[in-house]
Amino acid sequence: MSNALPNSAALFARALRVLPGGVSRNTVLRCDHPIYVKEANGVTVTDVDGVERLDFSNNMSSLIHGHADPATVAAVTEQLGRGTAFTLATEAEILFAEHMCGRSPNFEKIRFVNSGTEAVMAGIKAARAFTGRAKIAKVEGAYHGAYDYAEISQGSAPANWGAHDRPNAVPLVAGTPDGIVNDVIVIPFNDPKAATAILDDHKDSIACILIDPIPHRAGLVPIAAPFVQALRQWADNNGALLMFDEVITFRSEVGGMQSQLNAKADLTSMGKMIGGGFPVGALAGRDDVMDVFVKGKKGLRLPHAGTFSANPVTMIAGRVVMERFDAAAVARLNGLGDYARDSLAQAIKASGAPASVTGAGSLLRLHLKPDAPTDYRSAHTDSAETRAMDAFIDALYDNGIVLVHTCTAALSTPMERAHIDRLAEAVLTSLRDIQAY
Ligand code: PMP
Repeated sequence: MSNALPNSAALFARALRVLPGGVSRNTVLRCDHPIYVKEANGVTVTDVDGVERLDFSNNMSSLIHGHADPATVAAVTEQLGRGTAFTLATEAEILFAEHMCGRSPNFEKIRFVNSGTEAVMAGIKAARAFTGRAKIAKVEGAYHGAYDYAEISQGSAPANWGAHDRPNAVPLVAGTPDGIVNDVIVIPFNDPKAATAILDDHKDSIACILIDPIPHRAGLVPIAAPFVQALRQWADNNGALLMFDEVITFRSEVGGMQSQLNAKADLTSMGKMIGGGFPVGALAGRDDVMDVFVKGKKGLRLPHAGTFSANPVTMIAGRVVMERFDAAAVARLNGLGDYARDSLAQAIKASGAPASVTGAGSLLRLHLKPDAPTDYRSAHTDSAETRAMDAFIDALYDNGIVLVHTCTAALSTPMERAHIDRLAEAVLTSLRDIQAY
């Protein structure tokens, strides 16, 4: 960062003494040091050095109505005085479950957990418990959180990713057991022919196919309908389940991206925005599959708990936020997303820089590549590109914009066209800044 932020720098020096790398999540690291927040409101976040920025990250896409949403603050404040978590159930959980199940015919039942990672983990385990099979299939490079199985191939690189039509299962972390690597089948994105050929080799052993309909690590490119249809068909023909990870993409439609695709999901993991700014995850799906959580004739196939699962603070915040993210709000925000992608394409053109923009609905991602990527491999950046990207994001911070570290933006409902215009101006200035660099 070119602008000095002495208060943030001083906090980071203290943080380094007690936190590995100075942080609890690497996603807040910037070139020099993280920026520390003093307060945030609506579309802006102000740091401890008094710099105000427009927030297009919204805590990694989790604040659909922006910061300190007044209705959420009021509802949560009231609950805080009545207790925050109990070893007893609350009506808040039922009310939120009723709301969420009403958003999609695919959500016959729902269970709440505390993060997207946990939701994906519960989904994979539910698929295994239901089918009695161990393997899962996932798209190369797709991010699904930190469960060992879901992490496979998340960080694969040219040196180890193998052939496009036969991607290797690459562990993210040293020491990942071989058993895990062997039980994850990696398929290429939006390539139905190659994907089904790979799946055919594991016909009797796949519990579920896990897909993110707009995988951000794979370029933030929408999934193609024929790809979804091919996977749906394959799952039906081979006794496997199809699981949508809509932790980010649930914002695409009232019932998530799956309803835009008119797709049948057996299981859906959610998180981020559905918690109204509080830690959350959820797994929704077919009644008979969700039955694995219930003690019945077949016993209890999947014991499942979680100390803070369905705590009333998250349940109330989630409902207050989601009820106001109705069809009209979704449509308006998606329209603003179209405007943003157009504006950024114009800014890129005006800058003359080799850059592109991808995304759909209220999500977009900038790439320092002249041709918009179409999958994980074409979105992958080598070390020079990664350095240029870091410099670009830092320039955007200097120009008053906060983005996700992958250069991704997730719009919030308090945003107007004027905010998008400021983003486009900052992108133009920042692209010029880094070219002059
Ligand atoms: N799935 C997807 C698609 C995600 O983007 C993320 C988080 N970025 C997760 C799962 C994991 O969610 P969490 O960080 O809440 O564990």
